[in-house]
Amino acid sequence: MYEKLKKLAILLVPKKLLERYEGFFRKLISYKYRGQKYCCNICDFNLKDFAVLSNGNKLCPNCGSLPRTRRLFSIIDSEYSFKNKTVLHFSPSKAMACKLRELKAKEYVTTDFEGEFLADEKIDITQINKKDNSFDLIICYHVLEHIKDDDSAISELYRVLREGGKCFIQTPFKSGEIFENDLIQTPEDRLLHFGQNDHVRIYSVEGLIDRLSKVGFKVDRREFNSVADNHKGLKQNETVLIAQKE
Ligand SMILES: [Zn+2]
Repeated sequence: MYEKLKKLAILLVPKKLLERYEGFFRKLISYKYRGQKYCCNICDFNLKDFAVLSNGNKLCPNCGSLPRTRRLFSIIDSEYSFKNKTVLHFSPSKAMACKLRELKAKEYVTTDFEGEFLADEKIDITQINKKDNSFDLIICYHVLEHIKDDDSAISELYRVLREGGKCFIQTPFKSGEIFENDLIQTPEDRLLHFGQNDHVRIYSVEGLIDRLSKVGFKVDRREFNSVADNHKGLKQNETVLIAQKE
């Protein structure tokens, strides 16, 4: 239902108006989902259920957060402090950026290269225009699978992190080996082979850990295989990589 309503809104309401009054439209849609069974930890909205997307993801109709965003915030909230920290966040959703700003980091920089997300800066991840050892924490979620030269991107993430700093990384994963092929170039072929029309590969967890380890990262592989109390609408099977600069 959520996707149908969204399509209808996109069809009927001019884009500028939709962007300007996004909060209002979300409130309108989310009214039907109000309840007490679940709570979105990004916007604190109480729901009887999340909106279930066609890919099975449980989306918060109030702020648009995905299960992976709620999981990441849950990890950050319970294990990390932003106090006196410098944080670089690639391509954040609006809701997550708002939530993380509340944590009052010393510096919280949001960045997006393609202009798809609202961000403070436009940074090319393969040539990050920041000094060495600039950040305590980096969030690089669902970015690397879009980057052709991911070796450079990974080296740059390592370079701009401080010693002991950590980078939260996630991409879609498959089992086996990383799948990439330079001959697959058109959006149609990329959708067919990589699962999305702007992805350039599908990583495996082991393959990505291998690439991260090669530049010097020590990788903590977090596996979340079951969710006993799923009050936040998290995903049952999820891997999060926390790469530390030694
Ligand atoms: Zn929410």
